[in-house]
Amino acid sequence: MKIYIFVLKFLFMAELRFSALREVFKREPVRFQAPSRIVSEYFGTDVFDLHKMEHYLSKEAYRVVKRAIEEGKSLTRQEAEQVAIGLKAWALERGATHFTHWFHPLTDGTAEKHDGFLEVGDRGHVVENFSGEVLVQSEPDASSFPSGGIRNTFEARGYTAWDVSSPVFIVGTTLCIPTIFVSFTGEALDYKAPLLKALSELDRAAVDVCQYFDKNVTKVFATLGIEQEYFLIDEALYYARPDIVLAERTLMGHQSSKDQQLADHYFSSIPERVMWFIKDFECEAHKLGIPVKTRHNEVAPNQFECAPEYEEVNLAVDHNQLLMDIMKRVARKHKFRVLFHEKPFAGINGSGKHNNWSMATNTGVNLLSPGKNPKSNLQFLTFLINVIKAVHDSNGLIRASVMNHSNSYRLGGHEAPPAIISVFLGAYLTNILEEIARKVTDRKMTPALKTELKLGIGKIPEILLDNTDRNRTSPFAFTGNRFEFRAVGSSANCSGPMIVLNAAVAHQLIKFRKEVDLVIRKGRNKDEAIFQVLKKYIRESENVLFEGDNYSKEWHQEAARRGLTNIPSVPETLKYYLSPRSKDVLIGTRIFNEKELEGRVEVEYEKFTKKVQIEARVLGDVAINHIVPTAIRYMTSLLENVKGLKDVFSEPEFERLAGARKEMIITISDHITAVKKMVNEMVEERKKANVIQDSYKKAIAYEKHVKPYINEIRVRIDKLELIVDNEIWPLPKYRELLFTR
Ligand code: ADP
Ligand code: MG
Repeated sequence: MKIYIFVLKFLFMAELRFSALREVFKREPVRFQAPSRIVSEYFGTDVFDLHKMEHYLSKEAYRVVKRAIEEGKSLTRQEAEQVAIGLKAWALERGATHFTHWFHPLTDGTAEKHDGFLEVGDRGHVVENFSGEVLVQSEPDASSFPSGGIRNTFEARGYTAWDVSSPVFIVGTTLCIPTIFVSFTGEALDYKAPLLKALSELDRAAVDVCQYFDKNVTKVFATLGIEQEYFLIDEALYYARPDIVLAERTLMGHQSSKDQQLADHYFSSIPERVMWFIKDFECEAHKLGIPVKTRHNEVAPNQFECAPEYEEVNLAVDHNQLLMDIMKRVARKHKFRVLFHEKPFAGINGSGKHNNWSMATNTGVNLLSPGKNPKSNLQFLTFLINVIKAVHDSNGLIRASVMNHSNSYRLGGHEAPPAIISVFLGAYLTNILEEIARKVTDRKMTPALKTELKLGIGKIPEILLDNTDRNRTSPFAFTGNRFEFRAVGSSANCSGPMIVLNAAVAHQLIKFRKEVDLVIRKGRNKDEAIFQVLKKYIRESENVLFEGDNYSKEWHQEAARRGLTNIPSVPETLKYYLSPRSKDVLIGTRIFNEKELEGRVEVEYEKFTKKVQIEARVLGDVAINHIVPTAIRYMTSLLENVKGLKDVFSEPEFERLAGARKEMIITISDHITAVKKMVNEMVEERKKANVIQDSYKKAIAYEKHVKPYINEIRVRIDKLELIVDNEIWPLPKYRELLFTR
């Protein structure tokens, strides 16, 4: 009887794991049918795009909105009233019952508060109402959104205001209006407001530089193609892992004997159940006008990637946020959970969100694509070199823009760029830059040198795409007609890095224009002046160029020699937002004011602290409530076994037989003791850190004194996983999480 109860207890502990596995084995793919086999027939059906505006709006209203979109202007109340009439008609026809201002607060997600169209009329009857006033502006209670101390508690109001450049769309039965979110006193409380400012700053600065080459350029917009990596795990296994549910990553789990060593998952055929999920979310994305185009298996088991065609940055960012939302929602329908965390599993690849970025003109030119002749190539080199200079000068700020708690597990880890920001160019361009730096002098150029330089750059092949060697280890790589900013984490709202990159480049282009004009005023002609300044920039920023393996130890040493910083600490990296250089860029270009910038960094420190805190709590709970009891039970069964041996065998037979079991008992016992001790110590460290008032110092305390325990406790638990009877281990193991689908 005693033994019977004992066994039952074992089964109960591990029951969740095994019943989850049984559920996965029984899964069937959830099939679905797209509205049509031809995507173009339903692409954008849920978006109020220009095409639909033309149909639903009066001629005047259509003209006004179109101009507002093109010029980045907002609408007057009267104009909005006109637009609201048409928009309401379309929304009601599409079955919408509610509307919401959809915005990007400084959390990790988007925010929405739905209001019905319903309005009670004078005689108690109900009508559907939607006015221009609610279209353009709303006043949600801002008090629960992070603001980093900007918003006074007594002034909880915040405003959301329509961002006309991103189209209105319908999700389910809700009309969603993309908006910016600002405090009552005018400070930005979101990601979109500063992003729009950075983009318009870049527009202005880049147009000024383009004027050297082509007077017809009146608008430059930054372009962005976002590759989104993610993991999928089955829903039943997800629920059996409290760490994934609460911290979005595994806080324990021994490496699977086989994971990605054979690289047999990368680009292999997409598993059927996964394929139905992908088709389903792609269809939802297409209906919302998100041009998802590419899909494939990634390197780690159960890791995948999708990528839309590139778009204007603000739209691409909105679409990426929306896409992540859609993917999470559709995954549930298919009994999956999608993990956007940068490092859900230790020891294998993490997930990134490669930001393919470039700049395009209203004349249809990609400024980072080589042209047909020396003139257009000088323009190309001008923008290329200015971007390099911006990355060089704003090195610390750029790292800060991608750094956060979850991405810190990825940067410097498997298949992820290190925390050193460098630029990869490829051999061809490296040589060209070298040639310019060598030949150009501060003296007046001889006609022969001019011809030579022009000949040299004239030879740059128009299609560099196939001539550029790929370096997948670089955090910021030129890939032929764009830069691929690879350090961005998979869960990020790309606004953060895009604000910084576009602001840094804008700031740099403004400087460039000034410097060139100065040289021209000293009597050089335009091309000469451009060459001279470019040469100076090449020399000043060559430190940031690196063609080798960014994952190698040698690079870390070399980077240190070059004076490039390598800072894996999250709070220390975030602090770079407030360096004089960063302020020069972000405040100098009026993207933030001092208060906004400080508030933002404050929010980041707090986010970091809270995330480490959550992980520490979850790990403590699971260690004490799941792992230690399981290990004790297994140890008890070994003790029973040793006792039994003693009853049956006499010395020295007993000693010979029981030796190995006794050793196991000691090992398990040591691990249990260590886990318990470290969990207690970790709690004490948290208590000490929690009383620190200054958020930077608190974050540092969490990083230095709490975070290390998370890994150390894990190591012990992972060792226990290898020893304890598989039948009673309570948590789904890596091999199960990664290989069952
Ligand atoms: P990779 O080979 O790097 O995995 P993918 O095909 O997955 O490339 O993604 C490349 C991304 O780069 C796509 O989103 C694509 O639209 C985008 N892209 C291409 N040209 C540009 C450009 N000029 N500006 C911004 N993004 C671009
Ligand atoms: Mg790709």
